Amino acid sequence: MAKKNIRNFSIIAHIDHGKSTLSDRLIQHCGGLADREMAEQVLDSMDIERERGITIKAQSVTLFYDARDGERYMLNFIDTPGHVDFSYEVSRSLAGCEGALLVVDAAQGVEAQTLANCYTAMDMDLEVVPVLNKIDLPQADAMRVAQEIEDIVGIEAIDAVQCSAKTGIGIEEVLERIVKQIPPPQGIDEKPLQALIIDSWFDNYQGVVSLVRIQQGVLKAGEKMKVMSTGQIHGVDKVGVFTPKPLDTGVLRSGEVGFVIAGIKDILGAPVGDTLTNAKDPSDQALPGFRKVKPQVYAGMFPISSEDYEKLRDALGKLSLNDASLFYEPENSGALGFGFRCGFLGMLHMEIIQERLEREYDIDLITTAPTVIYRVTTTDGKEHKVDNPSALPPVNLIDEIFEPIVEANILVPQEHLGNVITLCVEKRGVQTRMAYHGNQVAMTYELPMAEVVMDFFDRLKSTSRGYASLDYQFKRFQASHMVRVDILINGDRVDALALITHRDNAEYRGRAVVDKMRELIPRQMFDIAIQAAIGNHVIARSTVKQLRKNVTAKCYGGDVSRKKKLLQKQKEGKKRMKQVGNVEVPQEAFLAVLKTS
Ligand code: GDP
Ligand code: MG
Repeated sequence: MAKKNIRNFSIIAHIDHGKSTLSDRLIQHCGGLADREMAEQVLDSMDIERERGITIKAQSVTLFYDARDGERYMLNFIDTPGHVDFSYEVSRSLAGCEGALLVVDAAQGVEAQTLANCYTAMDMDLEVVPVLNKIDLPQADAMRVAQEIEDIVGIEAIDAVQCSAKTGIGIEEVLERIVKQIPPPQGIDEKPLQALIIDSWFDNYQGVVSLVRIQQGVLKAGEKMKVMSTGQIHGVDKVGVFTPKPLDTGVLRSGEVGFVIAGIKDILGAPVGDTLTNAKDPSDQALPGFRKVKPQVYAGMFPISSEDYEKLRDALGKLSLNDASLFYEPENSGALGFGFRCGFLGMLHMEIIQERLEREYDIDLITTAPTVIYRVTTTDGKEHKVDNPSALPPVNLIDEIFEPIVEANILVPQEHLGNVITLCVEKRGVQTRMAYHGNQVAMTYELPMAEVVMDFFDRLKSTSRGYASLDYQFKRFQASHMVRVDILINGDRVDALALITHRDNAEYRGRAVVDKMRELIPRQMFDIAIQAAIGNHVIARSTVKQLRKNVTAKCYGGDVSRKKKLLQKQKEGKKRMKQVGNVEVPQEAFLAVLKTS
């Protein structure tokens, strides 16, 4: 295909504005799939994505569009995730493109993620094409939202295309805009190959499959290619595009986006962000690649049954292969035994990983309460990074604790402004900027990351009836009065239940956890004392009273088979229990800390 007839683009949008629906429409319009193959939302291929209606991994599709000017165009588009937790994946997807469709819900208007993603695109010099979606809705107000895009995002939008991904109105016009407004790729076929690896994943039959964008040169099946970071050479078996079914084309030229399979058995052999070149006439320069992402939230993951430990290690290994942001290392807990300390981008990322481990790998897990990373200086002048409350040095050795602070951008309609400000104050936020754009208010807050990653997003949504939106990034570490609260069961400190919190919230949280634990821990043969303490100072306590004697009486005497049956029943009921000292603790108790934040 002639370069002037190629368009590489992404779709960026706030979550739920219709990106996936529009993607499917575009595929359908270009005949990528027969109607009967058009399972709902083709691009969201993982089960969990479909159920939760979110897009996690970037996916690409190549489409052929016969435009009104009589020419045929090759449209390569890369889907991007919409949730705050995955903004890193967005910038990765955009690296393969010259332009982006900015999809905005014409009823909802501009939201924080619209803005964040759009700025990422503009930073990367992409042409941004605004699209007003959902114009079929009675409450859609295209003119108002177009004005909002101009005021808040700062791009022209008065003649933005209006469409409904649901009914199909305006879809052809969207395709026309892609062709007319997004520039074709640059790049020279005759230069040495430089191909950027946008994504790599492991396929059981083909080995490693990589999604690449060819910056210059030509990638051909049958030739030899070199992975620039490792210097390893591989024979290229297959090269092609997704339509969305994989289609072998034998060659990818500069400016094109497609897949390459080269018999690589280990995913580390084709790392995301790396550059591929020819073995024979190699380029002497690698492409800039991607910024590394660091996990922001850490939690312990422990198999309920210790026999699953190896299985869990294996599963985490596989999941981390095409998820560079997932971190894990072995952890040994006094209460929970052998497991892993895992790092995630945010709570949603953590929930998804947990769900995949349980569903796809069939491992029952206990997850401990998530925590952010603290920087701790000790009296001996050393500095420590602490991602686990139980690893916090003893109080008398701590000089200062620094907590991570994020800069959060919040967009909210005026009528909900008061509620949102109240929430931000409650979460120890400091306002740094506020501006009115029509009915929308844009605010910037500095907030402790620990407060933001827990339930802030849900609280923000409920306090604004769904209208407020949020985007945030790490800003800096700040000295704060943080303390560790230990939870003791019958006098034993349970490492997996420790939490770090601001001193002002310690009593409240300690009390809440202790109360929650009393509800969750079943009564046993003896009283169980539950305490929350800072160092040796107990700040809250409660007791799970012992079972009354007449209830337990039937466990004694009687015939043996009945007793066995009873034991068996108890055993099944205990599946999700963990023995802490002589007390049975159910798995929910380990997350009680989270539920009370
Ligand atoms: P994404 O999160 O941006 O990928 O959004 P989805 O494509 O998953 O859409 C979110 C919701 O909006 C779904 O329930 C869609 O059915 C609905 N939706 C998408 N486009 C339209 C549209 O043009 N009109 C209407 N009425 N609903 C739409
Ligand atoms: Mg989606």
